[in-house]
Amino acid sequence: MVFRSHMDLALEQARAAGARGEVPVGAVLVSAAGEVLAAAGNRTRELSDPSAHAEMLVIRAACAALGSERLTGCDLFVTLEPCPMCAAAISFARVSRLYYGASDPKSGGVAQGPRVFSHPQAHHAPEVYDGIGAAEAEALLRAFFAGLRSPLSN
Ligand SMILES: [Zn+2]
Repeated sequence: MVFRSHMDLALEQARAAGARGEVPVGAVLVSAAGEVLAAAGNRTRELSDPSAHAEMLVIRAACAALGSERLTGCDLFVTLEPCPMCAAAISFARVSRLYYGASDPKSGGVAQGPRVFSHPQAHHAPEVYDGIGAAEAEALLRAFFAGLRSPLSN
């Protein structure tokens, strides 16, 4: 199968999250067959739920859609490096490939911090591809944290 990036859809979800006053991070879960199973942006404020990160929401929705607690063969696209909580959930869900945009020196758990996937307690590590759509993801986050309306949103 020809590789198709779904980072554009993840960025769309990130922009929508920012417009709702949430930290602008978006995620998309794609089945082994290339079908989009779930797409979401952060909803921690809306749901009053500190675990409602974009990755957690798409993992929950995709598992519900498939009727399985495993997402073997699935690809996860997320605009920002997952935090340790989300990285652990990605490992538990057996996601096959993780594509992320911006790196997160402050809260990331993949390439820095606890480096969840290379920790000896990680029973499953996805293939990881970083830096995809990173410039746009970073611009969204910078604009959000500067308290500015993103020039990239309409
Ligand atoms: Zn997270």
